[in-house]
Amino acid sequence: MKIGILGGGQLGRMLLQQAANYTVETYVLENDEQCPAAHLCHHFVKGDIKDFDTVYNFGKGLDALTIEIEAVNVEALEKLESEGIRIYPRPSAIKTIKNKILQKRFYEENNIPTPEFKLTFNTADLQNHLDFLPAVHKLGEGGYDGKGVQVLLDQKDFDKAFNEPSILEKMVKIKKEIAVIVAINDKGETVIFPPAEMVFDPVLNLLDYQLSPAKLDDKVLWKAEAIAISVVKHFESAGLFAVELFVDFDDDVLVNEIAPRVHNSGHHTIEANYSSQYDTLWRIMLGYPFGNTDAILPSAIVNILGADGFSGEAKYDGLDEILGMDNVFVHLYGKSHTKPGRKMGHVTIVHKDYQDLTYKANKIKHTLKVVA
Ligand code: ADP
Repeated sequence: MKIGILGGGQLGRMLLQQAANYTVETYVLENDEQCPAAHLCHHFVKGDIKDFDTVYNFGKGLDALTIEIEAVNVEALEKLESEGIRIYPRPSAIKTIKNKILQKRFYEENNIPTPEFKLTFNTADLQNHLDFLPAVHKLGEGGYDGKGVQVLLDQKDFDKAFNEPSILEKMVKIKKEIAVIVAINDKGETVIFPPAEMVFDPVLNLLDYQLSPAKLDDKVLWKAEAIAISVVKHFESAGLFAVELFVDFDDDVLVNEIAPRVHNSGHHTIEANYSSQYDTLWRIMLGYPFGNTDAILPSAIVNILGADGFSGEAKYDGLDEILGMDNVFVHLYGKSHTKPGRKMGHVTIVHKDYQDLTYKANKIKHTLKVVA
């Protein structure tokens, strides 16, 4: 079987690490020849994943295709799908998810709980929604990693707003942010991974670390799982999806957004679950039965980000100390250059005791530094 991945970042890299356990010929399309996935595939093709002809020509000889980023040429995928190439997930799902306006409408049409929202086409439109503040302004297309998201507390924040089609979302009083990965195969069978919870730095509001399984009351857990499965089924597509959810102080569960692909909230599943998110996607694409997605043990993920003030060839300070710790798994993404905030790798910690996870997560955050 010949299977292609659009995009060559760390998600593609980890997907390829798992592919080595199966009989599959792998192809990667990406512009950067030094990208994290370039050296782990059988065939690297240099090219723009946003260009129609490039994506079409890349995909036409393959059996199946998947993505590791949503910013791809969907029209080319639609044509490939019409010619019998299997795409995970289907282009129709990618199209909806890629644009936050379409994504929110999709939730509305399918009665999926999600924060209330208004549509804005330019900053002038915001004047019509003063009574809707405080709110979060989100760029319709092109935002990622918090870029394309602005908190608008009052009119004074309007200079930070987007002058392009966007959604204005009611500010939710968030008790917990969780993510649930759901996978669907060609037969329509589903599996779900235990939710992960994000633990945020109260000062910087950057993702500090992640714990999994999330500590949730049973009722909230059931609600989250039911919503995640329901929303993913509505896409009518096989594939693997990460559903990001808010739990508010009334214990209501709301869909924030969905990624139609393997996701950073599932990195820990490599070591902490019997079958990882990457393994699960291969099983879907290769037509194999699902594995067990349960957690073997609780786990934490700490992202390794480029330190502030350092740009250039990456150097990892404190790596020996981290590698000397028990139950700690280091993943470096093979990016030769660091810059402030760049995702350079992650560390997964596995332990039966949440206190141990939290202690080690903090220790790692303070010990490991990416400098230049
Ligand atoms: P991105 O796609 O860039 O990750 P998100 O839509 O996930 O953007 O928003 C980034 C963060 O902003 C979320 O993780 C959450 O902490 C905060 N946020 C987003 N929407 C809301 C909202 N409606 N109310 C409160 N906080 C929000």
